[in-house]
Amino acid sequence: MTNQATITAASARRCEITIRRPNGIVETIVHPTIAALNDTLYAKMRMANRSSGRGECLAYRNIDETPAANVVITCDRCGAVIANGEGHEQVVTWSNGAKVINTYCDKCHTIHTAMRG
Ligand SMILES: [Zn+2]
Repeated sequence: MTNQATITAASARRCEITIRRPNGIVETIVHPTIAALNDTLYAKMRMANRSSGRGECLAYRNIDETPAANVVITCDRCGAVIANGEGHEQVVTWSNGAKVINTYCDKCHTIHTAMRG
């Protein structure tokens, strides 16, 4: 299944941003929707955060964890090892609107599908 490899590689990309909050706490977050930043986008985000009082962006880091060919895919629900190409991908929408792709084994896919009615 070539489709699976594409989805897995895309979902492995994420962007971490280090922010100093107005209360002085420095925290590193994974951006919920942006998978990669560049300097222009980062500058805009910095200004937006500053002007809205959400804190000062200190740094960003793009992370690309494109898996090696022999990567072991496990079920996002029960952790069972999924044989290559036999997982079921389902898009899950978080309460903040971010979408993630979860991979489920046969059993969890059946349960998850039943839960969604
Ligand atoms: Zn499972």
